[in-house]
Amino acid sequence: MPLRFYNTLTQRVEPFAPLEGDTVRMYTCGPTVWNFAHIGNLRTFTFVDLLRRWLRYRGYRLDHVMNITDVDDRIIQQALGAGQSLADYTAQYTQAFLEDCATLRLERPERLTPATEHIGAMARLIAGLRDKGCTYESEGSIYYRIAAFPEYGKLSHTDFGGMRAGARVDTDRYEKADARDFALWKAPKPGEPFWESEIGPGRPGWHIECSAMAMQYLGETLDIHAGGIDLIFPHHENEIAQSEGLTGKTFARFWLHAEHLILDSQTMSKSLGNFITLRDLLQEGYQPEAIRYLLASVPYRKRLNFTADSPKAAATAVERLRNFELRLKTEKFPDGADEGLHAAAGQALQRFEDAMDDDLNTAEALAAVFEFVREANIAMDAGGFRAGNVAPALDLLERFDSIFGVLRPGRLEVRVGDALHLSDGDVQALIAERTQARKGRDFARADQIRQQLAAQGVILEDTKDGARWKRH
Ligand SMILES: [Zn+2]
Repeated sequence: MPLRFYNTLTQRVEPFAPLEGDTVRMYTCGPTVWNFAHIGNLRTFTFVDLLRRWLRYRGYRLDHVMNITDVDDRIIQQALGAGQSLADYTAQYTQAFLEDCATLRLERPERLTPATEHIGAMARLIAGLRDKGCTYESEGSIYYRIAAFPEYGKLSHTDFGGMRAGARVDTDRYEKADARDFALWKAPKPGEPFWESEIGPGRPGWHIECSAMAMQYLGETLDIHAGGIDLIFPHHENEIAQSEGLTGKTFARFWLHAEHLILDSQTMSKSLGNFITLRDLLQEGYQPEAIRYLLASVPYRKRLNFTADSPKAAATAVERLRNFELRLKTEKFPDGADEGLHAAAGQALQRFEDAMDDDLNTAEALAAVFEFVREANIAMDAGGFRAGNVAPALDLLERFDSIFGVLRPGRLEVRVGDALHLSDGDVQALIAERTQARKGRDFARADQIRQQLAAQGVILEDTKDGARWKRH
């Protein structure tokens, strides 16, 4: 069976392949940096990380864009309350988000980029929609006229025909002609930040930023658009209306949505005040790998019920895998190979891959690995595990860990192509990794890191006292 995903748009599981060549052009909605991300948010980003890794495992290359929402109503209110500029206020939470991602080993998208650097592209898109008659103006703000897009509702499979006028479907507090209409561009308000643009002064609505940034970097039709299930409506519905209203082309071929993380039977949410951050869990002494495992272990389309015992169970599972790897690497086994175990390793790998191909069924993939680990451990205890069984077992673990990333402690290195600047801490972590790589005579990796740093404007100088660095 080929790789396949559940597509929210068609409500079916469909075989997946990119439209052109072997590069998957993918957009995922990033964080709104007004606070620390909670682990419900991080569950979605962990799903995106698994998706990235599995697509690569299947031989695809990635061109993945994620935005950072660094301007919206909540951010402006919080920044004003804190007496900080928008840039200063969002910088601290952007940094915190990047740290959380590194801690959870979430790969950085090829482009991770803030909304405020794309105001011009958003204004251009809105001007294009205006030329097509999809917008109207009211008190200096510009709205999308949903009546101009008959397919509105096709992603959330909602029929808006009978909706009462005046029903609230969006959080925008502005004058609209129709309840479904949403703000593309908001008029300046006293004391709030705004930008000059070709459509006048103001600031963008939240929805427009994703359409503008996705199409700027990835073209008019994406292979995959992904995000949390709470974004289907209205956010993703509005993205479709904006993008397809302008181009007349399918905006995204596949829409993938991760379910909620539930805390004590309630959706974790900052507005409900019932949220846990990654930092909370680390302070309780849990290893990042256990948290990553926990977030990855429940298939993304199932609700993840987080209880006080969840991190403990995940930590135990990670420990079991690490112990197994340690046995494989340190124990002495008799020569030869047990044929039954050899076949079992092959079957476990096959089952693992089939499960991941099946819409990233991580629970089934893990079951395949753990069944093999159990069987192999029993054989080891009984003296039936042979030296020739080590390599296929390690191969299975390696492949598992290239996706789940929990066997070895440590942060993920920052990837090439980051649009955001590396923090000093990131630079130092990379230099430390490069020093280790050189010590281990892994010059390819050492060189890769040097190039990565150079691409970010960081110049390295090797001295007898170690590496020194400076920025351009
Ligand atoms: Zn978005």
